[in-house]
Amino acid sequence: MMLVPCPWCGPRNVAEFRYVGESSARPDPATTSASDWRTYLYTRRNPCDWIKETWYHRMGCRQYFGLERHTMTNRTRPAESSR
Ligand SMILES: [Zn+2]
Repeated sequence: MMLVPCPWCGPRNVAEFRYVGESSARPDPATTSASDWRTYLYTRRNPCDWIKETWYHRMGCRQYFGLERHTMTNRTRPAESSR
């Protein structure tokens, strides 16, 4: 069982959450080409390392939050911006 650390509720079973996706900086729509939008929307890095993700606590506080997860071990830690 994987535990996800909700900043408001504490560590909870992953079944209570919805994985929203990998967090990445949104490009400027006024200056971005169609190719860059396609890359932003559909391409993920998929590294074997720590990545920033967005999660939603759907069966708890119903808050969105960011965290960092190691893709090989599934260990988690608070996102750098929330520390
Ligand atoms: Zn929560």
